[in-house]
Amino acid sequence: MVRLVRFIQCSLATRDTGSEVSAALPDVLAAAIMGFMILRMGGELAWGALQELIDTALDEEQVAQIRSTLLATPGVVDVHELRTRRMAHQALVDAHVQVDGRISVSEGHRIAESARARVLREHAEVLDVLVHIDPEDDVVPDAVTMKLPGREAVLRELQPLLAKLPAPRRIDLHYLSGHVEVEIFMGQEFAHDAEGLRRAEAAVIDQLGRSPNFARLVLNCQVAPK
Ligand SMILES: [Zn+2]
Repeated sequence: MVRLVRFIQCSLATRDTGSEVSAALPDVLAAAIMGFMILRMGGELAWGALQELIDTALDEEQVAQIRSTLLATPGVVDVHELRTRRMAHQALVDAHVQVDGRISVSEGHRIAESARARVLREHAEVLDVLVHIDPEDDVVPDAVTMKLPGREAVLRELQPLLAKLPAPRRIDLHYLSGHVEVEIFMGQEFAHDAEGLRRAEAAVIDQLGRSPNFARLVLNCQVAPK
């Protein structure tokens, strides 16, 4: 009898505990799901912050679109070393833009500013753009060009020629394809001196023959204004 009573008590107790467990189960599940969601959100925020800290780039499609915008800028011949770096919710862009190697510095600068403005206008995710202008493709660093003589050394080398000419108005140097191209600009009076022109032509040919650094030597004459 005592055993029977104990069995009934035990059964009741078991049934009561079971009902408590079944009543608490949804709460436990809800808490577990909530905890998982909080952990997941925290993880995503931490991963995003970490990616910004380790300088991630924009995705390939965005980079390709920025490249297209740069290439579509009038005066841009090619684009290389295009790099992007995420910063907060935007990105910084660095690009080397190749232009015609014989245009002036000011025209090259204008093309760079135009390319920068286009990228900022057409790509809301871009915070700023740094455009480096190249006169030729320098993906492979051109050690030869860096060994070429600077302006002072070039002018010293040109002395035998310059000594046979009236004082030039301007001398432009172009460092291209591992050589120096020289353009000498003379005043209008030079064009009227037929004998002087013949002597200048011979002097230029002579100078080219003795200067391995020079790929081209050109005399220009200003026609107007005087
Ligand atoms: Zn470059």
